Amino acid sequence: MKRIIILMGVPGSGKGTQARKLVQKFDFAHISTGDLLRALDADPNGDKDDKAKLAEMKAGKLVSDDLIYKLAFTEIKKNLDAGKNVILDGAIRTVEQAKKYEDFFSSIGMSEEVIVIEISLSDETSYNRLTKRKVCPTCGFILPYSPENEMKTDCPECSEKLIIRSDDNPETIQKRIKEQGNVALQPILEYYREKGELFSVDGERDIETVDVKVVKLLS
Ligand SMILES: [Zn+2]
Repeated sequence: MKRIIILMGVPGSGKGTQARKLVQKFDFAHISTGDLLRALDADPNGDKDDKAKLAEMKAGKLVSDDLIYKLAFTEIKKNLDAGKNVILDGAIRTVEQAKKYEDFFSSIGMSEEVIVIEISLSDETSYNRLTKRKVCPTCGFILPYSPENEMKTDCPECSEKLIIRSDDNPETIQKRIKEQGNVALQPILEYYREKGELFSVDGERDIETVDVKVVKLLS
């Protein structure tokens, strides 16, 4: 099994859900840049320079790519060194970022350990899923849109009432799909395709079917 799994997909493709499943099944470390930034924010002993950059980001100034790389790379290396495999989803949104990650993997001798799995989905299905999915405000569980899930009101993991996220409104979703949809994704996928690291799974299928195919690619 490869040790570095990168899940790619448009919003609503289910890459977050698949990442959670893989973490449960194989004990992978799920690297989330959002979580790393929140942890830095909450850590009173965090690096002073890092915290200053974060404060600027929070003040609405430019996103500090260097800080995000530093946090992500440190966390990835820590987990790999501890013998854990790592899984990334949503961390790479530009070819430039993809190259930075590749340079990093190469610098720690891990280039051969990378597998990129695209969960493919049309922009149209992406839109439908995003405007109708529900999330748990307590544990972060995401209940994807499907005809049978539309009736469910409680989180299956912690019983909290599920909500529709406030940023899941039609205009915001249109904007997200423009920024993170298939047009934006293609150059990154092409980059990985040329390196021979890219595999694709049909994300239009239900979660369990996608899960089985992802696991097959990994084994
Ligand atoms: Zn929950």
